[in-house]
Amino acid sequence: MSENCVFCKIAKGEIPSRNVYEDDRVVAFYDINPQAPVHVLVIPRRHIDSLDGFTVDDRDLAGYLLERTAHVARELRLAEPGYRISINTGAHGGQEVFHIHVHILGGRPIGPLASRR
Ligand code: AMP
Ligand code: ZN
Repeated sequence: MSENCVFCKIAKGEIPSRNVYEDDRVVAFYDINPQAPVHVLVIPRRHIDSLDGFTVDDRDLAGYLLERTAHVARELRLAEPGYRISINTGAHGGQEVFHIHVHILGGRPIGPLASRR
């Protein structure tokens, strides 16, 4: 647990969240400020700042996080017609919460990636 980390608090049930999936290693919950009809975040319970914080020792967790993301998307009936995942990393990646999380965006065509300008 990292002090004052909002997603650590969600993982511990210390602040409310609308969970769609949880197990001993990951939690998935609805984003509080949805950018699409379905917008869910998937996090590891263990605090890791960002994708940049994953090490070789975290390969199993990294794979599990991605596999469970696909599982959650299937459970939400997003696999067809599809969805977008995003792992925003660092300032230029638009990361605001520094506890790694996978965004699942679906329920409408998500469109092109952000402007390259
Ligand atoms: P990012 O910009 O990739 O760091 O995304 C952080 C996301 O967390 C944003 O989409 C926020 O709307 C979302 N968020 C922040 N606080 C909460 C919260 N308490 N419950 C659910 N989602 C949250
Ligand atoms: Zn955290």
